[in-house]
Amino acid sequence: MKTTDKRKANAKKIDISLLETLYNLHAPSGDESDIQNYCAEHAEAAGASVIFDEIGNLYITKGNAKSYGCFIAHMDEVHQTRSKYFKTHIIGNTIYGYDHRAESFSGIGADDKNGIYIILKLLEEAKEMKAVLFVEEEIGCIGSRGADMQFFDDCRYAVQIDRKGNKDFITTAAGQELCSDSFYEVTEAAKYGYTKTVGAMTDIMQLKENGLNIAGCNLSCGYYNPHTNNENTNLADLQNCFNLCLHILDKVTTMQPHTPINRYYNYNQPHTQTDMYYDYKRTYYEEEERINDLEQQEIESILENIIYSDEYINKLYYLTTKEGDEIIKQVRKVIGYNVSKTTIANVFYYLIGYQLYYTKTDNK
Ligand SMILES: [Zn+2]
Repeated sequence: MKTTDKRKANAKKIDISLLETLYNLHAPSGDESDIQNYCAEHAEAAGASVIFDEIGNLYITKGNAKSYGCFIAHMDEVHQTRSKYFKTHIIGNTIYGYDHRAESFSGIGADDKNGIYIILKLLEEAKEMKAVLFVEEEIGCIGSRGADMQFFDDCRYAVQIDRKGNKDFITTAAGQELCSDSFYEVTEAAKYGYTKTVGAMTDIMQLKENGLNIAGCNLSCGYYNPHTNNENTNLADLQNCFNLCLHILDKVTTMQPHTPINRYYNYNQPHTQTDMYYDYKRTYYEEEERINDLEQQEIESILENIIYSDEYINKLYYLTTKEGDEIIKQVRKVIGYNVSKTTIANVFYYLIGYQLYYTKTDNK
């Protein structure tokens, strides 16, 4: 089949009704109950058992096996408000959200409902698998930080489905190695058009920080322009990611051990530091497109004053700590309006990365 025909055929396979239902469940961080309940019911209807933890994360198990393929996604979205005039529309292979009163595009929360969609569809197909759906990824991986790590004891790997575009197979996230090259090879992701690359802070990175000792990765799942009102999904790309996940579930049947780096003891290793620097820089440039120069300068100058004292590097790695809240308050006081936590966090990480990079150079 020609590539274009293949893409058309892929797009046709999407369960539009499920996808639109998910997009219509508004789930801002901290207010995910509608989508939590929907996912739990859908998973149970597919024959899986579901456990909620205290934070609101969902742990899903289907079948009874010695080991499981495991997939993860997050339930919250960045879009804070949703008009009642919101409707999803499909144009060609692409699905958008539109606010018919404001007459403008409106974010659909495809980040990360596309991940949830794939997991729910996998549950319909699979005899045995595990999945975790996290709360509050967008405000600092709060759900995954408090994850029940024992749930992963009998998992072979953990594949996160939460990356924009259609070709990223993320093997390093915010400086944390998620897997070795052999995991990328064994998944045969290249056959689906995926290439190895680095990405930003997200749940699978957090799980590795928690000590997850199996291979992980984060996959592009067909959403574009995340965190904006122009967010949209390419249906062919979404189906291609589903196909890859199903392939991984079928073909990767052995344990995929992988030891996380303990970054707090690796700051002096040049390789890690350089990686971190580029990783932060990349995230920063993506973020930069959304904030103007003045805002950026102001945030940078505030953060520079705070973080160019060494004690803060470890303590403030996450802006969700108490000290982090203090920084956010300070930034917002100066900027004078509600600049997003994600923006502050990314500028913050960039500056830390920058500092580490030059610390390394000085030590040489
Ligand atoms: Zn996401």
